Amino acid sequence: MARPPYTKGLHDLGSGSYAWLQPDGSWGWSNAGLVTDGGESLLVDTLYDLRLTAEMLDAMRRATPAATRIGTLVNTHANGDHCYGNQLVAGATIVASAESAAEMDELPPDRMASILKNAGALGPGGAFLLRCFGGFRFEGIVHTPPTETFRGTAVRRVGAKEVHLLEVGPAHTKGDILVHVPADRVVFTGDILFIDGTPVMWAGPVGNWIAACERIAAMDVDTIVPGHGPVTDAQGALRVGDYLVYVRDETRERFDAGLSPADAARDVALGDFSSWGDAERIAVNVHTLYREFSGGTLPAPNALELFALMGELAQR
Ligand SMILES: [Zn+2]
Repeated sequence: MARPPYTKGLHDLGSGSYAWLQPDGSWGWSNAGLVTDGGESLLVDTLYDLRLTAEMLDAMRRATPAATRIGTLVNTHANGDHCYGNQLVAGATIVASAESAAEMDELPPDRMASILKNAGALGPGGAFLLRCFGGFRFEGIVHTPPTETFRGTAVRRVGAKEVHLLEVGPAHTKGDILVHVPADRVVFTGDILFIDGTPVMWAGPVGNWIAACERIAAMDVDTIVPGHGPVTDAQGALRVGDYLVYVRDETRERFDAGLSPADAARDVALGDFSSWGDAERIAVNVHTLYREFSGGTLPAPNALELFALMGELAQR
């Protein structure tokens, strides 16, 4: 079927699956999904705050009675723009990888709320944090973690349909999964795919992520719903892998030459990829690659310094 347009809201993918899209896909503006069959439903991810998530759930209930009571919520990974709205689906079975469930506890919504409240006093890093996330409302959100976890693969049922949960992380985060619905020929990739936006690698190793892109491209599906950006196809998935290979190789040269990670991030020319949004994420990607190249001996960078460097790169 025709690819849905990249407009805000709910898009019927046919066969009972839906995509909720939030242009422009930049920092915090994530996609989600719904799988229905026989009056049952499974939600793929919630959104960054309660207002956005409530608006999505309303639209889903208007589109299909199956969304009136969501039986299962799957979180593709631990970033808040995919799970901070979980509170509004409390009562559902909430499923994530064990690694994601643990990672969600590291930055619960109340912590994010207090970081942003103080961000004005945190210099350039705080300023860029506010620029990225200042439009969302984190105050008062109740941390609502998964109720069931798995490692590797798991199968859930929605009516007569199977939903396959495939762990491909650590990559973007520590426990990324893909949500594949074979009967609907759809895969929801979470943030393994950013389309027309720059991937951000918080965890790595990069090889896991490149392999995941190839795995998505080889799937027998018609519709690929990324974590951010428009619905895409196999070529779109491979293009994300191309970015990661390019950045890996460019970063390796600078690592071997002894550049600091910050100078390497300033130095890599993004070429064709510079047209993708949020190109400043190269700063995170280079730092994560440096840690990988060093065999994990480099300490994790200070998050505020990373955001300050991204703010600097975003000015260019
Ligand atoms: Zn995201």
